[in-house]
Amino acid sequence: MTTLADPVPGGRPGELERAAPLTAELTARGVHGIVLAYVDTAGVTRVKAIPTARLEAAVAWGVGMSPVFDTFLSDDSIVTTDVLGSPDGDLRLHPDLDRLVVLAGQPGWAWAPVDRITQEGGRHPGCGRTFLRRTVARAAAEHGLALKAAVEVEWAFGRGDVPDGEFVPAVSGPAYGAVRQVELSDCTADLLAALAAQGVDVDQIHPEYAAGQFEVSVGALDPVAAADRSVLVRQTIRAVARRHGLRVSFAPAVLAEGVGNGGHLHLSCWRDGVNLHAGGDGRYGMTAEAESFAAGVLAHLPALTAVTAPSPASYLRLRPSRWAGVFAAWGRETREAALRMVTGSTGHQAQESNMEVKPVDLAASPYLALGCVIAAGLDGLAASLPLPEEITGDPARYGPDEAAALGVRRLPVSLPEAVEEFRADAVLRAALGPVLADAVTAVRLGEAEAVAGMDDARVASAYRWRY
Ligand code: GLU
Ligand code: MG
Repeated sequence: MTTLADPVPGGRPGELERAAPLTAELTARGVHGIVLAYVDTAGVTRVKAIPTARLEAAVAWGVGMSPVFDTFLSDDSIVTTDVLGSPDGDLRLHPDLDRLVVLAGQPGWAWAPVDRITQEGGRHPGCGRTFLRRTVARAAAEHGLALKAAVEVEWAFGRGDVPDGEFVPAVSGPAYGAVRQVELSDCTADLLAALAAQGVDVDQIHPEYAAGQFEVSVGALDPVAAADRSVLVRQTIRAVARRHGLRVSFAPAVLAEGVGNGGHLHLSCWRDGVNLHAGGDGRYGMTAEAESFAAGVLAHLPALTAVTAPSPASYLRLRPSRWAGVFAAWGRETREAALRMVTGSTGHQAQESNMEVKPVDLAASPYLALGCVIAAGLDGLAASLPLPEEITGDPARYGPDEAAALGVRRLPVSLPEAVEEFRADAVLRAALGPVLADAVTAVRLGEAEAVAGMDDARVASAYRWRY
């Protein structure tokens, strides 16, 4: 369980005592430097790195970094809000020692996620990890809930020996095909070894649908740890691929046409060690609370899209009949509904049952995405919101009248449309707080403006190697 306490100047209680022995251990293991990572509003992972000998100082006093990155776009240009985007100020990056790992794919390096606080020791309202920590704490305080989450990671392997910017798939063979598995046998075995060495329990790794595409799914953790893990897994995939002469793209749409890269979220609510998505009186064993939590997510999905699908390229992926879940509807094991109820095998439901949110990609900050999805679920729970009827099959086949009768809505088809929905959603805005909510709006509008007039192929290539 991730510590939910904020860092403080001088170090979180108990952490400083751990830093000295940890420094000695890391040094003995040949670790020269530690990567300190967070994900900005646009979804880009930004880092600072320190020599191992500086760990104790970083734990106590943090590492400086400007708050301006909260309004960076993914192309590194800068937009502004009332409070963010100025060249003034400094933040302190405090590593979470519970999540520090030695990077098996990058010899000589360790990695840790950070929380960002002000120089005065106050909460930084633009910190996505702090937002997620607080939302998880709110679920516990207001509803006695613990949550488990996992982020699926899809990516495309491209050849490293092609001109910069171009994508040439590094494998041939059909979707889910053994050909691909054999062609990338060494690389994916190294990847499994690295993830295992880093304590990441992998459920599956397989060749996916699109050209060069693979997917890895990992075990569920508390939401903050799951978000950290998603960042770590991508760092590891990138590093291992590079050692095999390959490039990887986590972009929502590597190419303008065809199936994209998803970052589906799996989420379940637990109380006192009991899974609320199994053993209840509701549909497929859901408890009334699990149904209301799911109903809350469903109700807020149009606005959530601005957080979970934050890139102009996200809307090249979010198209019907591509398993990306572009209709606000739910179904049991339905790959075209935005919410897929995963019930697990008979006899294993208590462990496995969860809900999968599909219109999420890896341009999204996993901290903002999980925090907002949880806030939406808590809103449904607080209102005892009823879960509508489920759907089966592909909702793309419904005509407008049938869709309306079933209450099935197409999610936003563009980033500006998603921003409109987000701006009108008081619940999500209140959960994020005004500073982060305004940053989300400004960054999304900035991204949309950056691609004005571009055709789909140019949009795909503009974001191909950004995330
Ligand atoms: N690649 C699909 C997406 O964009 C998901 C495929 C799957 O169901 O795993 O979300
Ligand atoms: Mg997949």
